Amino acid sequence: MGSIRRKTISEIVGKEAVCLDDMPPLDSIYAQNVFSLDMMHKRLPKDIFKKLSKIIRKGAKLDADIADVVANAMKDWAVERGVTHYTHWFQPMTGLTAEKHDAFLTPTVEGRMLNEFSGKMLISGEPDASSFPSGGIRSTFEARGYTAWDPTVPVFIIGTTLHIPTLFYSYSGEALDRKIPLMRSISALSRQALRILRLFGNTEASFVRSSAGAEQEYFLVDTRLAALRPDLLLAGRTLMGAAPAKGQEMEDHYFGSIPARVMAFMRDVEAQLFALGIPAKTRHNEVAPGQFEIAPIYEDTNIATDHNMLVMNMLRHVAPRHGFMCLLHEKPFAGVNGSGKHNNWSMSDSEGNNLLNPGSTPQDNAQFLVFLAGVLRAVHKHSIALRLGTIGAGNDHRLGANEAPPAIISVYLGEQLADVLDVIINHKDSTQQKSGFMEIGVSSLPPLPVDFSDRNRTSPFAFTGNKFEFRAVGSSQSIAPANIALNAAMACALEDIATELEASIAGGASLNDALQGLLPRLFKEHMPVVFNGNGYSAQWAEEAERRGLPNLNNTVAVLERYSDPEVMDVFLRQNVLNEREILARQEILLESYAKTINIEGMLTLEMSKTSILPVVSRVQMEAADVLSRTRVALGDSADVGAEQKFFATVRENVVGLRDSIVGLEKALAALHSTSGALEESRVARDVVIPAMLQCRGYCDTLETMTDSEKWPLPTYAELLWIH
Ligand code: ADP
Ligand code: MG
Repeated sequence: MGSIRRKTISEIVGKEAVCLDDMPPLDSIYAQNVFSLDMMHKRLPKDIFKKLSKIIRKGAKLDADIADVVANAMKDWAVERGVTHYTHWFQPMTGLTAEKHDAFLTPTVEGRMLNEFSGKMLISGEPDASSFPSGGIRSTFEARGYTAWDPTVPVFIIGTTLHIPTLFYSYSGEALDRKIPLMRSISALSRQALRILRLFGNTEASFVRSSAGAEQEYFLVDTRLAALRPDLLLAGRTLMGAAPAKGQEMEDHYFGSIPARVMAFMRDVEAQLFALGIPAKTRHNEVAPGQFEIAPIYEDTNIATDHNMLVMNMLRHVAPRHGFMCLLHEKPFAGVNGSGKHNNWSMSDSEGNNLLNPGSTPQDNAQFLVFLAGVLRAVHKHSIALRLGTIGAGNDHRLGANEAPPAIISVYLGEQLADVLDVIINHKDSTQQKSGFMEIGVSSLPPLPVDFSDRNRTSPFAFTGNKFEFRAVGSSQSIAPANIALNAAMACALEDIATELEASIAGGASLNDALQGLLPRLFKEHMPVVFNGNGYSAQWAEEAERRGLPNLNNTVAVLERYSDPEVMDVFLRQNVLNEREILARQEILLESYAKTINIEGMLTLEMSKTSILPVVSRVQMEAADVLSRTRVALGDSADVGAEQKFFATVRENVVGLRDSIVGLEKALAALHSTSGALEESRVARDVVIPAMLQCRGYCDTLETMTDSEKWPLPTYAELLWIH
């Protein structure tokens, strides 16, 4: 009788993809489940629509009477579409989204039921929040948390529920979510960037916003195989598994043709996303077998953040319909390419001008160079704040391990742009006058290449023509922390620059003179953060150390620095987070790290003890049997070296496994007897992870020595190649 694993595989292979021929064309369903501006325009009285769109644009306060009218229109629109419930949808510090559904239905005194949805229900809610992490902000005697409608993101329907995007905060007004600091960081960036635009004579722009486009990577594995792996079910990644005979070395998966069943899944996801007004534009196979990517067109950062949360939710929820489990984890398979999320980031003014576009006139170039200097200063001075936007137990397997990108945060500019900066800097040095000197505000930038296809893929922060691509974000992470850090760091840098330029101009200098005085110095100061070479090389780590760039290659090391005065200052100065909020976040994130490692440790222990050890003990017994029977059959003088050697190797590994199980038990006991978030996370990192790896090492070796019929877990090859 074959193993359950083998049987499952024979069922899967050759299975037809779900047929999606009756899918409506995407353009006909676009945004049909969104109460968009367009829909508001159609459904709201003119004066109310005017007031509301002003509130959405400017972030002003919503009056109760407007709220009632808006709520009623939303409800009618939703009920016509079969909606029965509404929920305040928010993003607590769990890193996931949260929702609690309430029915519109309200009984009347006459005993009838009415659909009711008031302005108050739209604007504010009070979810039972005591079970969400608050890092001590919400002490038990004041356990309430509040949600408030964020009108900058339109409400939407999923299933039969109207979702209202909200902000989540405590009784004392502190942020308990990731949206509030994100909104604050966007305002901070706008404030400081406008100061620069005004210096350039721009009086039209009323605000500046940041934009983000998140390229989302993920793996798909067959649900029936995943169901046989407790690690995939509970930890979202494999905790053991020997390397497959074929991995990604043939480079035949990247951009390869998409398997039919995966294609059906992608189309289904895209239809759901399009209906939610999420412009999912790009899809392709990724580097590793079983790995794929979906990328939307960029949007305002706050909307892009919500939309990426919805993309991740949709990927997870739609997958089972097609017989898949979607793995968003950063490293589902050791030794196989991990998953990241490229956060493409830029900023534009209220008139839609991209401020990171080099432009064509000398005036545009000068302005571009100021914002570029801002980016270099932000990334150089505040790299730990940026690194904080990418932490997590899962992402530690990428950053700082032998994978893209490294934990050292540097900027890739490309040769042409780096040359431009070189010229600007060295003219100021004036020892080695270079020809082609560029006078800022007078000369034009040389044309920059439009085709960046050969750009450096190893850099964590790369200029790609008119935006930067922050590649260190993990695939399972919200993009909010990365964008909060980017916006806040950029606001700090622009504040420094604006203050200096304003002072020079107040002192009688022309803008051009002020720029000539400032930019060469700034570029020179921040050149050490620019690196156009190979980010994987060991030499870069040494070189980065000489340049004084931090190389924090694990979550705990980064989190320890969260409370450094200069790191806190990035958030404090721009009113993005206050001190209590920062310390609370530090605590929550440390706790979450320790909990994640604890779960992985417990699972490794359980799988080793209850599923691997029984099997390999039998392998040992059989090997002993083969050895002794061979000896009997051939007589004492016969050479049974080969049998002896196999037995000895199996035994050595089984003994190693037994010992490492004891070691892991001790490590977990040490973790459980530790208190304090920082100490716990250090024990998790320094004691539990090494013990887990040791256990895993023996399991993986034994997998290669065991009858494949009897191995209890689906193998890497089976998980990765069967679609
Ligand atoms: P790749 O990195 O795979 O080559 P592209 O360069 O085509 O992909 O674009 C990646 C992402 O960058 C897309 O989501 C795109 O919408 C986004 N993007 C383009 N312009 C901007 C911008 N100004 N701000 C933020 N994101 C942008
Ligand atoms: Mg990219």
